[in-house]
Amino acid sequence: MNSDDLSFDQRHIWHPYTSMTQPLPCYPVVAAKDCQLALADGRRLVDGMSSWWAAIHGYNHPVINQAMRDQLGRMSHVMFGGITHPSAVALCRRLVAITPAALECVFLADSGSVAVEVAMKMALQYWQARGERRQRFLTLRHGYHGDTFGAMSVCDPDNSMHRLYQGYLPAHLFADAPACRFDADWDPQDIQPLRTLLAQHSSDIAAVILEPIVQGAGGMRFYHPAYLQQARRLCDHYGVLLIADEIATGFGRTGRLFACEHAGITPDILCLGKALTGGYLTLSATLTTRAVAETVSNGEAGCFMHGPTFMGNPLACAAANASLSLLADNRWQAQVAAIETQLRQALLPLAEVDTVADVRVLGAIGVVETHRPVNMAQLQRFFVERGVWIRPFGRLIYLMPPFVIAPQALQQLTGAIRDAVTAKHQDLFL
Ligand SMILES: *Cc1c(COP(=O)(O)O)cnc(C)c1O
Repeated sequence: MNSDDLSFDQRHIWHPYTSMTQPLPCYPVVAAKDCQLALADGRRLVDGMSSWWAAIHGYNHPVINQAMRDQLGRMSHVMFGGITHPSAVALCRRLVAITPAALECVFLADSGSVAVEVAMKMALQYWQARGERRQRFLTLRHGYHGDTFGAMSVCDPDNSMHRLYQGYLPAHLFADAPACRFDADWDPQDIQPLRTLLAQHSSDIAAVILEPIVQGAGGMRFYHPAYLQQARRLCDHYGVLLIADEIATGFGRTGRLFACEHAGITPDILCLGKALTGGYLTLSATLTTRAVAETVSNGEAGCFMHGPTFMGNPLACAAANASLSLLADNRWQAQVAAIETQLRQALLPLAEVDTVADVRVLGAIGVVETHRPVNMAQLQRFFVERGVWIRPFGRLIYLMPPFVIAPQALQQLTGAIRDAVTAKHQDLFL
């Protein structure tokens, strides 16, 4: 890539949440291997982001590469309407086996946001089939569920696109987010806002939708497992479905294969994505119980009304099968535990630094929350100059490295964060 390519990019290509008039600098990556990104100028960056929770085994993994090559030699795609194929069957078999026992029926889609749309449509069709008019969702403040309309409507109402799309988005119900931290003593008051809203509106509510244990893009907050247990109990009590969005937390990131396991609960509907393919291709899955699936199927429409063109894409399924076979040897457990220990040792002391408001670590996730918002372009450059790829947002500098990262590489990441929050460069923060 030359400077011409970069100026074409700036002039013509949208990146996530970017402006065409004031584009932020972009770094050209020409290759990636294990936990390193290779820049066009030859520099190597240690990856602290796993490409947004996805690349849990690192990049260019020989096992996933081979599985995809094998699939490519057979077929890269075939429609899923009226046709099935071995990679999809193998994948759904695995997903049914590794998720809670009651989740038996799988819908494959193309992205996390669509998995959330599918979950919400399942809940709506479920109540319609039962002859009840329930069209509202109850969710938590600080949540993030994706960028499509249904998903947007259940994202945090203040820190999202609600105002921009006012009148266009359905008005759902928002409970104050849990405040009780993951490893604090459980405070029974924490569940009160959810309980109150359920008590007031239960006959209008199709489902509660939440991110179990870790609220991701809406604030990187970790909450107490008892909250999730209570939420499950309240949903049962009021006869409301529970949708767990594990698109970020799924596949080991929090120290359990699925975050719901911290609380020992089973949702009625489960959304998976991001790390499903080990970060190779976009693919998501929405799982539900036999009871929900049968009720939906016996409704007026006689079927579940959704069917993406690229549903069950064989290449994506092959990548997911390979990724799940890598997880099946359970080495991820020791890897995530070691990352957690090292993140605690390196990051928790930063809580004493005056620019830092809070530090928290859970599984292979480390978060340093600062008092002031980051100056994204400056801080990004600061990190790249130190040979690391860390992408902060707002007041959050966080790490979620590939599970296979070596201790030395992880140390480079945490060292760069320490340097940033202790730097006297005033321009790193707004
Ligand atoms: C990323 C994310 C989504 C959206 O997934 P996309 O693949 O970006 O559409 C939904 N829910 C959660 C919890 C996520 O982290």
